[in-house]
Amino acid sequence: MSIKHVFKRTGGWLYLNTALGRGPLRGAGVILMLHRVLSNDRAAELPHRNELCVGPEAFEHLLLWLQRHFDCVPLMTLLLADPEHVPNRPRVALTFDDGWRDNAMNAFPLLRQYQVPASIFLSTDFIGSRQHFWWETLGETLWGSHGQVARHSLIEHLHQVGRPLPVLLDDIDDDRRSLALVHYLQSLKSLDPQVLSDLTESCPHGAQPQALDWSQVRMLEDSGLIRFGPHGASHAILTGLDDQRLHEELSRSRIALENGCAQPLPVYCYPNGDHDARVRQQVAAHGYPFALGTETGLYRHDGDPLNLPRFGVSQRNAHHPELLAWRIRRGTRS
Ligand SMILES: [Zn+2]
Repeated sequence: MSIKHVFKRTGGWLYLNTALGRGPLRGAGVILMLHRVLSNDRAAELPHRNELCVGPEAFEHLLLWLQRHFDCVPLMTLLLADPEHVPNRPRVALTFDDGWRDNAMNAFPLLRQYQVPASIFLSTDFIGSRQHFWWETLGETLWGSHGQVARHSLIEHLHQVGRPLPVLLDDIDDDRRSLALVHYLQSLKSLDPQVLSDLTESCPHGAQPQALDWSQVRMLEDSGLIRFGPHGASHAILTGLDDQRLHEELSRSRIALENGCAQPLPVYCYPNGDHDARVRQQVAAHGYPFALGTETGLYRHDGDPLNLPRFGVSQRNAHHPELLAWRIRRGTRS
């Protein structure tokens, strides 16, 4: 472990374990952003999964750590708290993006065991469908998770659309190869959405759908611990849509939530965290007083409610929550 790493972990520990350290957190809320909870911690550790995936052991470790230092509250409790009434302990709310099936299979049993509430933001076209998220499907196919035949076929397709694979993706070292995959997948974000969709369709799909279905959504909502909000319909980046398509995307996701849930959240969650003044204005016009972005920072009641900051949870900082505390501490200074 590097000196920098030890320094951050120690700093993070001191921050939450001393009154002086905790001072700046008084009256503020922390919103955490997660995506997937895999069934296996080792799988979540590889760089191309680290940012979006945590394993069950790291997730349980994180929940226990959060309960030691925070009041774990539903998102709306945090957002609607009376700023005059400052609780003894800082508040934290958990959010999950996209609507992965593993949220029900792997995250929920632990959330229920520790009675930690959470909000899940659904890309509604994927719910109950066999549609697949391109970054997951292309990433795992290139990683070889679906066999070498599928991998070579996808590499050929990518070559045809002018995105040949960098040689680093043939490195025999898993970590280096996985890191190269992260950079390569980032570079594919600029491809036309239809091309990405065609490439995704050309890949083999696992036995299980990637996303939740509506009966799972209802079951989770009935538990009283989980609430749902929209994260786009097709997960299209909202800032790239013309007015007509932006309106359709917002309407379709809102209607799907209204049909599929008893009490959808009045909170929008921007796909990829991307928004601008036009998107925020449209989100407000569709009846959402709050929206979640991906900039880091603390919730203090006085910021833009349509650009709520969050701290991302990775496998690494779930496993070492002092690193998360370090990032939260930096957030209190900005
Ligand atoms: Zn997303």
